[in-house]
Amino acid sequence: MTKLFESIQYLKGVGGARAEKYAKLGIETPYDLLYYIPRKYLDYRNYVPVSQAVLNENNVLRLTVTRKLAPQRVRGGMMIYKAAATDGINDILIVIYNNFYGFNALKEGCEYYMYGKVTGNFIRREISAPQFIKSDDNVLIQPIYHLTTGLSVNIIRANIKQAVQLMLEEPFETLPKEVLERYNLCTLSYALANIHFPSSTEAAEIARDRLAFDELLTLQLGMSMMKTNSRRKTSCYMDNSKSVEKYIQGLPFELTEAQKNAIDEIISDLCRDVPMNRLLQGDVGSGKTAVAAAACYFAAENDMQSALMAPTEILAIQHFNTLSEFLEPLGVKVSLLTGSLTPKKKLAVKEQIASGEINVVVGTHAIIQKDTIFKRLGLVITDEQHRFGVAQRTALAEKGDAPHKLVMSATPIPRTLALIIYGDLDISVINQLPKGRKPVSTYAVTGKMRQRAFNFVRNALDEGRQAYVVCPMIEDSESDLLAVKSYAEMAANELLKGYSIELLHGKMNSAEKEKVMKRFKKGDVQVLICTTVVEVGVDVPNATVMVIENAERFGLSQLHQLRGRVGRGEYESSCILITDNTGEECKHRMKTMCKTTDGFKISEEDLKLRGPGDFFGSKQHGLPPLKVADIAVNMELMSKAQQCTKEILSVDPFLQLPQHKGLKMDTIRLFRKEIIG
Ligand code: ADP
Ligand code: MG
Repeated sequence: MTKLFESIQYLKGVGGARAEKYAKLGIETPYDLLYYIPRKYLDYRNYVPVSQAVLNENNVLRLTVTRKLAPQRVRGGMMIYKAAATDGINDILIVIYNNFYGFNALKEGCEYYMYGKVTGNFIRREISAPQFIKSDDNVLIQPIYHLTTGLSVNIIRANIKQAVQLMLEEPFETLPKEVLERYNLCTLSYALANIHFPSSTEAAEIARDRLAFDELLTLQLGMSMMKTNSRRKTSCYMDNSKSVEKYIQGLPFELTEAQKNAIDEIISDLCRDVPMNRLLQGDVGSGKTAVAAAACYFAAENDMQSALMAPTEILAIQHFNTLSEFLEPLGVKVSLLTGSLTPKKKLAVKEQIASGEINVVVGTHAIIQKDTIFKRLGLVITDEQHRFGVAQRTALAEKGDAPHKLVMSATPIPRTLALIIYGDLDISVINQLPKGRKPVSTYAVTGKMRQRAFNFVRNALDEGRQAYVVCPMIEDSESDLLAVKSYAEMAANELLKGYSIELLHGKMNSAEKEKVMKRFKKGDVQVLICTTVVEVGVDVPNATVMVIENAERFGLSQLHQLRGRVGRGEYESSCILITDNTGEECKHRMKTMCKTTDGFKISEEDLKLRGPGDFFGSKQHGLPPLKVADIAVNMELMSKAQQCTKEILSVDPFLQLPQHKGLKMDTIRLFRKEIIG
């Protein structure tokens, strides 16, 4: 095993220059090379007859060389080598540029599998610069790697072959035998040999499964160990003889079972002497705010303050209104703290927070973080988590003496995935909508149907309902803003003539925004023409129709979030997606939206379409990069790895047992040492 960890120069044919090129790929030892996982495989068994080759693409052909032609020298001294070949029925020309050795290896009368780009027409065809092997070669599946300049496929393959050889001489294993058996995994040496040089497609899959399992396992081990390490004690433990019964009795509706369960989980956390660190997941409209308010009530009963942070001012105001309505009658004092308060008012609120007169503060993130001093902060709630990010999440905890933390996520995430991304949090899921909610009927139409779509909108308005019309405005683009403004004008003069319309977009200041929102909430405004400022959280149950223009410009989760603004009350609601985009991907998205209203399913689809990087916006989630596992497709493997993580840590929480030594090394390697000790 030692040679595997020496310099890569130990391998034959790797000198200083080549070692440097490998270093650029992060490869310093033969061991690293073993984990240089192929991007895909070239399977020579999937050859096609010349007549069926797809033109201008790479194809595998099975060809016999009939005649090698004389080389030609062209401009710039480049040599072109050609050979005539046949698949037994059709002829084709093999063209090789500047590669004497490659050409020399071809023998007249011999049969080869060739892989390369096929060009030409029905009469004359060429395959250029093909990779090839003899047809009697016994390795018909070859790995393809990401290449870097100066390292050709052949060099990498040859070097990896040596590394695999070294490994097979002294095979090693990181997982205990029982784990391999229980989870039906192959040995590590089998996996490392077959990931590079599989004897069959199945062997490659078995190998990949094992390596992906390892990666997911070490990822979760690392996250779980971080979670354990970060749990210091808190003085904010609450008294479990207090109760939220009075709060529940006072609500204008009956809580769903799922809401009650979430409240129970939260309260039991609040009564422990380690801070709660919990994610509250629930589909759009599942009633997360009522759960959060219960937690605030419980804290107030325990003489502790709560802070609720929202990403936008509109939302902060809305939460403030909801919480006041639920809590003030019970004697819990709720206050709003946002940037648009007058300095005098702000100061007064801050004084009351410091004196403890205010029980619950609702505000935007920035305001609460800065110079607000609490008398006794016991609970911090952040709404719409993924807008914040890991760094801010940690910064918050510094306000009080390790207060309890509750995070409410805006977009539902598949549970298995949430466990990875929010591996340092416990999770409560509200998997039930309030009684009587009707799913929003969704339609995707082209611009030609706009008139009809708006007939539908006008009908709803005439029945006393309200509507949203959403226009895309990406970032701060001026041209988008102009487009939205002229659209609103057009709507006022044509499509929605005679109805009361207001415009709401991100460039308005918060006082303006709030004024419009208030009028919309009261019903004075019938139609809100808006950008994605309404995306998150806005709650106006009387609004039952949403039209989304240029729907192709929104991602799936975003569309779902937008659609969640309707269907929040007792009325039938609809969402009309307008797009003229006919691309496959867009069609797929629209279809998904029309077919399902389940946010968890939609986010799974979204994840598949966009991959985890884009899905979470930035790289903020702080996950180490995965080489083998694809968290969008390896859901099942992930649950297995999660199960295994629990089993291992329950007997050996710090991976100190000898049989876990390899795993510990892998974990440290994955998190690049800095994260765990
Ligand atoms: P979200 O989970 O999307 O944040 P909200 O907390 O904004 O959802 O709740 C959506 C709407 O449902 C609000 O108007 C809220 O008052 C209402 N609501 C919450 N819980 C219930 C319930 N159990 N029964 C009926 N309505 C409820
Ligand atoms: Mg909400």
